[in-house]
Amino acid sequence: MKQLAVFLDRDGTIIEDNYYLGKSDSWRQELRFAAHAIEGLSELQRMNACLAVISNQAGVARGFFTENRVIEVNREIAARLTARGIHIDQWHYCTLVQTEYARRHNIPLDSPFVNDTSDLRKPGIGMITKVCAGWNTALQDLDLWVIGDKETDAQAGINAGGRGILLSPRAMPGFTCYTDLYQAALHIKDARS
Ligand SMILES: [Mg+2]
Repeated sequence: MKQLAVFLDRDGTIIEDNYYLGKSDSWRQELRFAAHAIEGLSELQRMNACLAVISNQAGVARGFFTENRVIEVNREIAARLTARGIHIDQWHYCTLVQTEYARRHNIPLDSPFVNDTSDLRKPGIGMITKVCAGWNTALQDLDLWVIGDKETDAQAGINAGGRGILLSPRAMPGFTCYTDLYQAALHIKDARS
């Protein structure tokens, strides 16, 4: 059986989506784990999954916060996870957005964060291939899953040749949907048994 690798979205998946957490200086008080996220991560760990976070952070391009703030928030989440016995192997984020996104959100088109050729931003698979390089593993040697609360998260898993799970309160056509990370972890466990 292939090594299980689970790529996790951050906002709305591991932590509550607090509309660009990090833009206010009181972000530490606002930071909360999403419902059943800890149980889900623990379950995945019991399955010996390699875990990585891949997070689109357009808030940098939109001027809501700096890249340093993203790093600071990730460190805080990692510390709180460690306190609960959970270890995420790699943390990646993408600050790049495409022209079309920039236009919709009034980001100057000459911003260094506007980039139409990068495949880092999900549903691109650039962050996934980076993680695999870090693990010294080829994509196809992994039982690869992406879990997230946006269609683009699940789609990134499919685009990488793996599978995607969409965390959603309601069923979405074309996607495997569950309400929380724990239910998603049980689905993966089932799929591997
Ligand atoms: Mg999300």
